Parts: sequence; C-alpha cells; structure tokens
Amino acid sequence: MTTANLFCIDCGEIFSSSELSIICDQCGGTLEVELIDKARISDQPILQGSILNRYKSFYPYLDTTVIEGLGEGFTPLVEVPALAQEHGIEHLYFKNETQNPTWSFKDRGTVTGVAHALTLNFSKIGTVSTGNMAVSVAAYGSRAGLDTYILVNDQIAQEKLLPIAIYKPDLVKVSGDYGQLYYKSLELGREHGIYFINSDVPFRVEGYKTLSFEICEQMNFEVPDYVIVPTSAGGNLRGIIKGFEEFLACGYIDRLPTFVCAQASGCAPIVEAAKSEKDRIERFNSPSTIAHAIENPLPPSGNAVLKKLKALNGQFVAVTDEEIIKAQAKIAEAGMFVQPASAVSYAAVSALRKEGILTHRDKVVCILTGSGLKYTAAFEKHQLDIMTSTLEALGDFISEHTRRKHDYRK
Ligand SMILES: *Cc1c(COP(=O)(O)O)cnc(C)c1O
Ligand SMILES: [Zn+2]
Repeated sequence: MTTANLFCIDCGEIFSSSELSIICDQCGGTLEVELIDKARISDQPILQGSILNRYKSFYPYLDTTVIEGLGEGFTPLVEVPALAQEHGIEHLYFKNETQNPTWSFKDRGTVTGVAHALTLNFSKIGTVSTGNMAVSVAAYGSRAGLDTYILVNDQIAQEKLLPIAIYKPDLVKVSGDYGQLYYKSLELGREHGIYFINSDVPFRVEGYKTLSFEICEQMNFEVPDYVIVPTSAGGNLRGIIKGFEEFLACGYIDRLPTFVCAQASGCAPIVEAAKSEKDRIERFNSPSTIAHAIENPLPPSGNAVLKKLKALNGQFVAVTDEEIIKAQAKIAEAGMFVQPASAVSYAAVSALRKEGILTHRDKVVCILTGSGLKYTAAFEKHQLDIMTSTLEALGDFISEHTRRKHDYRK
C-alpha cells in the first residue's frame, strides 16, 4: 500500500490520502484523488474475487485486506435491441446497478469509503442521506462492525426509514434545515472522529470508477459513444469519468465516451447552469420531481461536474416527470424495474435523439442507478391492469382471453 495525493479542483491545494480530508480547508472546494495512470486489471478469476481485488492496483492507497465486501459491482450490462430500434440507434445498453447488495450503485462508493475509513483506523462512520446512500452505509457499517451514524431529516417517510433501520445503525432523525446538515456532519465528524462517507467524499467517488472499468471490460474495450448518468450530487458522474480517464491513461482504451449529465427538469441545477452558460451552479428554487433520489437543489459536486463536462464536451439534459414515468415503463418492458431517478438516463436518450445529438450509428450506455422497489409510490403513476377470475371459471376465462388477444394481434 502507498499513499496518493488529493487535489482541490478549485484552488489546486494538495492533500494526502493518509489523512481524512473531505473538502478543501483553504477554499471549501471539491477534492479529488490524483489520476492513477499505472495500474493493471488483476487476472484473478472473477468468481473468486471482488471489485476491489480485481481493480486493486487502481486503489494503491487502500488496504483492501481490511474490508469484507458484500459482492458489490460486477453488474450486468444488458443490451436492449428492441428499445434501440425504437430510437433508431445501433446499440443501446443498460448497466443494471439495481443488482448491487443494497440495490443501487452507492455500494461501490460505500465499499471504498469504508475501506478508506478502516485503512485510517476509524471505528465510526456515518452519512447524511434519506435514501440509497443511507441504506448502503448502514449495511456496510454493520458488516464491518463499525459504529454507524445515519442522519436523516425528520420528514422522511417510514417506507424509506425502516430499510435503513433494519441494519441497526445509530439512526437519528434531525429537524431543521436539511441542507445545513451536510456541513454540520463534517463538523461533528472532526469533533467525534466519525468518517462521514457523504455523497461526494473523494473516496466514495473513487469507488464509482469500477462502473466504467466494468463497462469497458464488458464491451471488450470498445468505448461506447455515450454514457448517460442520472445526476444529483455529481459524485457518480465524476467517478465514472475518472474511471474512463484512468483506463485511457493505462492504455486499456483509446478514447473517452461523451458523458451526459441527466437531471429531472424539476430539479436541474447543473443543466440550468450549463444551458445559461454560467460557470457556477445556483440553488434550484422549489425543486419538485418524482425522481427523489436525484432531487438535490445545490449539489456539492455541481461545479466540479460543470467544469469537467464542459472541458470534455459533454452533454447536459433535463427530462420531465412525464418522460421519466414513460421511460420507467419502457425499461420495465425490457425486463428491468428501476426507480424513477434511474429512468432519467433512458428518458435522456429520446431527448438527445430529438435534438439530433445522438445519431443512428451511436453506441449508448444508460446507467440504471437503483431499484424500482425503493420507491413503490411510483406504481400509482402507471396504468397497471390486473384481471380477476374464480377458480371454476378460469379455464373459460383464459380461453376467451387468449382468443381475444389473438384476434387483436391479427
Ligand atoms: C445517489 C443516486 C443518484 C445520483 O448520484 P450522485 O452521485 O448523487 O450524482 C442517482 N440515482 C440513484 C438511484 C441514486 O441513489
Ligand atoms: Zn481549494
């Protein structure tokens, strides 16, 4: 194990991975681990390893022996030809992150965050979240036997609270301004030695690199043309970009894809800033969208995403709730049930195609970030038909039904 430097995206100040630094102590800017440019994929058989073992040399600053994972990552990349055809594009793939241990991609960042906490000998971790990140940190904290502080706002629905509580973390409902809670957690972390693995902590973002490593391997190192990412805090998108950049630097691929920051139009601070050609994001007023998992009005990595995507000629797309629900139904048609926030990536395909940005020759990967069972309230938005019959009448019922269906198809 060695150490790596972190640098502040805003002022360039340097930090070391051997200490806990979450934001720049000079300017409050976003920190990022330096690019790892001399690393190799391990040749250990996949079924015997974990993502941290397979991509170990891309994490030279982590002691990967300190953590036992839960089988995060190694998720399927599913090609969906029928949907590709509808949009008149050559290849469309869904990277199905719902198959992670706590049903979202957050586990990839939690495992590296916890590994870093253990590497630095922390015995307490935490997070501020009401959704997937809280569940993920609670699960991994419990697995590692750490004191795990989960701070949620007091408006949280039982449906979201209990799936966090089941892992028995130190779970606190906090009343007051939820936006301030993030900063409060950093203060409490310093005071009480709690490593808060929040949304854009550098060692959480590092974990998201594995999403890109897997996509490259699954596509036999042929780089897709577009990678579309539902974006809230911006941690996932930053990690995904860095993953491709590191594979490029290490010679595994020969170019980068075009990255797309996809947001819900009911809360699109990064897309708005890009469209109005601003350099900094502004707080999004009265956010409202069904895509709750990406409803952050002032994303901490927003400026970093804006700067990075502009430099790389990325795209920014916002989609409406109506488009999101339609996309959710279409993804289910392809056999995958995702939460509304995840459907934003596929909804963006139509938008990009309409704008003439995607062409028929493009290979597109949509990240499906989290499971549909995380937000069952969305069922109400769909027309779901359920038929009924008695046991005695079932024979006739099915005959009649199949006949009608057959006639209808003719
Ligand atoms: C956290 C989350 C996102 C957004 O990721 P960021 O790193 O915050 O940009 C998107 N979709 C789902 C389902 C999430 O849980
Ligand atoms: Zn700084």
